Amino acid sequence: MEFSGPPLALNAIPNLTIPQFTLDYNHPLKKPRGANVPVFIEDATGRGITLDEARARVHHLANALHTKFNIAENDVVCIFSPNDIDYPVSIWAIHRLGAVVTPANPSYTHEELQHQLDLAQANTIFVNPASLGTALKAAKAVGIPQDRIVLMSRSERPEGYDNIESLVALGKTSDITYTERALAPGEAKTKTAFLSFSSGTTGRAKAVVIPHAAVISNVVQMAIWFSPENDVHKRMAPGDVSLGALPFFHIYGLVVTLHFMLFNGISVVVIPKFNFSAFLKSIVRHKITHLFIVPPQAVLLTKHAETKKYNLAHVKLVMCGAAPLSGDLVEAMSKLFPDAMIGQGYGLTESSTTIVMLNPKKKVDTIGSAGRLIPGIVARIVKEDGSLCKEGEQGELVVKSPALALRYHGNEQATAETFVDGWLRTGDEVIVKDGDFFVVDRLKEMFKVRGFQVAPAELEGHLLTHPAVADVCVVGIPDEYSGEIPLAFVVPQSSAVNLKDPSSVASLKNAISKHVSDNKIQYKWLAGGVEFIDAIPKNPSGKILRRILRAQATKNRITG
Ligand code: AMP
Repeated sequence: MEFSGPPLALNAIPNLTIPQFTLDYNHPLKKPRGANVPVFIEDATGRGITLDEARARVHHLANALHTKFNIAENDVVCIFSPNDIDYPVSIWAIHRLGAVVTPANPSYTHEELQHQLDLAQANTIFVNPASLGTALKAAKAVGIPQDRIVLMSRSERPEGYDNIESLVALGKTSDITYTERALAPGEAKTKTAFLSFSSGTTGRAKAVVIPHAAVISNVVQMAIWFSPENDVHKRMAPGDVSLGALPFFHIYGLVVTLHFMLFNGISVVVIPKFNFSAFLKSIVRHKITHLFIVPPQAVLLTKHAETKKYNLAHVKLVMCGAAPLSGDLVEAMSKLFPDAMIGQGYGLTESSTTIVMLNPKKKVDTIGSAGRLIPGIVARIVKEDGSLCKEGEQGELVVKSPALALRYHGNEQATAETFVDGWLRTGDEVIVKDGDFFVVDRLKEMFKVRGFQVAPAELEGHLLTHPAVADVCVVGIPDEYSGEIPLAFVVPQSSAVNLKDPSSVASLKNAISKHVSDNKIQYKWLAGGVEFIDAIPKNPSGKILRRILRAQATKNRITG
């Protein structure tokens, strides 16, 4: 059978670019914001920026990007920065010019960044000063000249570089020469706004093509879900303050914290880097009402002794997403935040985030459920043989939504496998009970460490470059804090190790782990260890039987 979220009026999604929708347009569901209520607040300084100030900065930055860098239609600009109050300003300025943003994890190594720049065909980089060295190496490798690197900073400006502040000043003092990109009727559905990265079902990270209408749509879908008649506990009130600790480069932070909060008249306190003590202090200092978190943060909040030192009574909504959250944690959170609404959200980069979300009619959502379908989504749960599951049966979640991405950029095969006749294959296995969705397993090989995607194919490809590795399979194994952690099953070259000598085994395992930690971002490190194995089980066509190894690794871990 098919499951549907509440209806979505056809005219609910305006044909606008994201900055037009966010900065200029009065959508009927948009909540009012006082002229002096900041949209974004810098955590460390408390400095805020109002909507009018943001609009002016966007205008001047767009003018400078046009004048100085000639950024124009479909140019791709990579933002390689932690959260910053000028992060959204940069996005919207780039969009005003008809250009595209590819947001990158600010902790990437230069090789990881190079992969993204290359695939997205970026020609300009906005970078936090702390990551300038990494950006320079990656830029050089893909042929982006140094003078197309802009510092995401208001103060730091090494010689020879522009920063956001110098560009805003330039845009303000120059004649306005850019023309804002306006859309033809219906074009918001096809005009690319973001190239966000996700590995999808198999293989390495790919550029997901997200059009303007997808982001706008997801914001409107969530707004209807939390419209005053549904939001019986009145959780989305203008003047509230949310914590922007989720990274803006990831679709959850980008759509839910950044754009959805803005739409609700709620200020966002911008946190550049997660540190648990500082996180608690920020929640109290800014009297945070809305917390958007990932499961490891729920683990810390409920299990770390430090939480007890703080009075968190002002929090009135906690939503956890990006990876599974256990029922135990939901219960512990509801004790920690007795007055807050608690639940999950579930979605993918490929669906411009939210597919199911906590039920606004309940205070604590059904334990273990990721939520219910938001308006405008149709879902099918499909069995292996292609037939549809009934309520209560487990199968792959396949959805239709106005917020779906269009394709994987330049990858027809992956596109054809994932985006099928207007439906998105999520690669997640779910069960529906009374309209509540439970995410129970994953069919795709990607797994998540602290909410971040790890693509086994990427790590396997890298590990095979180590001379002692003859064959390899990487799987995610359960971990209380991180959700999952990577473990590598390795077939060692026989000449590289004496398997009877424990010190030879330990030394090679260390060398293999180091090969990953020297070249990859920390969440991809082999925290689950390296296990030597005689052969990697494969099917007759050579495909790794990953599930067998994952089950074996999980069993070994549980039985010690
Ligand atoms: P990403 O594209 O990085 O957002 O990753 C999307 C994937 O994260 C989904 O396909 C799920 O496997 C996982 N995911 C996201 N939210 C949840 C959730 N609430 N429960 C379980 N898995 C989730």
